[in-house]
Amino acid sequence: MISIKSKTELEKLAVAGRLSANALMYGGSMIKAGMTTYELDKLIHDYIVKNGGTPTFLGYGGFKGSACISLNEKVIHGIPSKHEVIKDGDIVTIDTGATVDGWCGDNAYTFPVGKVNEETLKLLEVTKEALRIGIAQAVPGNRVGDISHAIEEYVRSFGYGIVKEYCGHGVGRTLHESPEVPNYGTAGKGPRLMPGMVIAIEPMVSLKGDAIRQLPDGWGVVSKSGAPTAHYENTIAITKDGPEILTKATI
Ligand code: MG
Repeated sequence: MISIKSKTELEKLAVAGRLSANALMYGGSMIKAGMTTYELDKLIHDYIVKNGGTPTFLGYGGFKGSACISLNEKVIHGIPSKHEVIKDGDIVTIDTGATVDGWCGDNAYTFPVGKVNEETLKLLEVTKEALRIGIAQAVPGNRVGDISHAIEEYVRSFGYGIVKEYCGHGVGRTLHESPEVPNYGTAGKGPRLMPGMVIAIEPMVSLKGDAIRQLPDGWGVVSKSGAPTAHYENTIAITKDGPEILTKATI
């Protein structure tokens, strides 16, 4: 069942979304070559707590971090680690969620560190644009498949791979609600979008090939090709005036 949020609930989701976004941008601003992903996670954790939220991911399904931090070929669900050092030339995907007053936010961004090669920078630019294109389809009367199709068509035009095993989702009092929002699909298919629905749209794109592999830690997901991957995500509300980004940073 897809829930429709009231005006008051949307306001609460916007508060959680704002903190999620601020934590993400704060985390991005703190990335430095030489630090561990554990140290970066700690900074994000403290930021969320200091600003009145709870890290949504901490303990979710047993996850041992406040943010998912995924380097290079790792596309999602990277567990922060004291043994993983960020280097110049890496791309770092941070995925943060903050819960405030029982409501969740969810967003992600891939940050380049120092000197990153042109091919990889293009991947980031295209994935970020794919998110924007997907969001533009999130209007009342459209269907989930319109978002999926728009993302797929744009990403495929560059010859990139799309991660199909993971997808966007509804957001509310819990992190993952109906509907699923895949990054590939057929226009005009799937649930109809209505004002009051809140969804996370999150293209996950690989420079080469769709195939992924799960790491032995049971969480991290990498491209099977070993090629770099990018992931951008926003939580948005569908309104009669169009999509409203709830994970909007104010710092
Ligand atoms: Mg998500």
